[in-house]
Amino acid sequence: MNHSIAVLPGDGIGPEVMAEAIKVLDAIAKKFNHEFTYRQALIGGAAFVKYGQHLPEETVEICKNSNAILFGSVGGPVDQQDQPKWKDCEKNALLGLRKIFDLAVNVRPAKVYPMLASLSPLKAEIIEKGIDLVIIRELVGGIYFGEHKTEGDLAHDVMSYDRAQIERPLHFAFQAAQKRRKKLTVVDKANVLDTSRLWRKVAQEMAPQYPNVAMDFLFVDNAAMQLIKNPSSFDVIVTENMFGDILSDIASVLPGSLGLMPSASLGNKLHLYEPIGGSAPDIAGQNKANPIAQILSTALMLRYSFALEEEAQAIENAVQTALESGARTGDIASSDELILSTVEMGQKILEKIL
Ligand code: NAD
Repeated sequence: MNHSIAVLPGDGIGPEVMAEAIKVLDAIAKKFNHEFTYRQALIGGAAFVKYGQHLPEETVEICKNSNAILFGSVGGPVDQQDQPKWKDCEKNALLGLRKIFDLAVNVRPAKVYPMLASLSPLKAEIIEKGIDLVIIRELVGGIYFGEHKTEGDLAHDVMSYDRAQIERPLHFAFQAAQKRRKKLTVVDKANVLDTSRLWRKVAQEMAPQYPNVAMDFLFVDNAAMQLIKNPSSFDVIVTENMFGDILSDIASVLPGSLGLMPSASLGNKLHLYEPIGGSAPDIAGQNKANPIAQILSTALMLRYSFALEEEAQAIENAVQTALESGARTGDIASSDELILSTVEMGQKILEKIL
């Protein structure tokens, strides 16, 4: 089957890690007899140089005419943010895409690889139990998007949710749980907040549609503690915007490097896949970046946009096997380990697929 993919490498390490991800996709296409059509487009600083905009219309059109968006990263060095090329680059590019394609649900897997246990801030005995969870966060509602008002010494930030806003991430979370270990934890603060009580009600009403998923509820303060003390107890977590913002940042430090972590932003029709890290200007152009987050983003794309589960697992297994065989880029290597370049790491993963 033919799938067309908008490929937006962006800035910094984006083009370097994207090149490795495309090689992996090509290997999957060959092995499983698929056709992927790549439609490259400029975004971020790279687009600004040509179009004077971080998100040009040409790029939006290419995305609109594709089945998924594979995104690298955008942005320049932190000390050059005042330059027109970099000013508001991430905001214009990513928030622009989020708005145009209604990317209302964010998906962040966090997996701790046992062979990289020393990178994780967690104790070995916690990691041994296995940490492989996904946080699904509502992205365009809640307190960040409610009314904000200050009157002298009084300030308000309004959190509101309606049923439709809650159903969308919940449906996706139930479906994600069905594809995984079939456990869903709805995180809220239902002992205090009306919005949380509505989330619970909607979740309870939806649960019979997904009879093979075991659902439980957890208060957000307890969830934050359990992510550190007992992360193996989680499979899929779903939650509202602000709780998800905080919990996904807690989870993002567990694996030990940004270079390992993919993400997805799900829209009504079109989904976007990207590493959680940025453009890493400190190592850009040096063939040093870890391509794993970008490669695992393609696995999420195969799973969630194209329903190619076996192919997605083939990529995830290849990453796991490459790491087991000792393949390390600089961000995940200990002092006595051989450090591979971006291209060499890509090649190690590719070899496990072929
Ligand atoms: P960053 O995520 O780019 O880098 C933080 C640290 O992580 C750096 O030391 C970097 O070398 C390392 N790192 C990140 N990805 C890596 C990888 N794949 N392999 C090895 N090491 C990796 O964050 P920053 O330095 O704060 O931001 C740099 C630029 O990226 C800024 O302009 C920021 O706006 C932008 N940014 C973009 C996105 C995005 O495109 N979605 C996300 C975050 C930051």
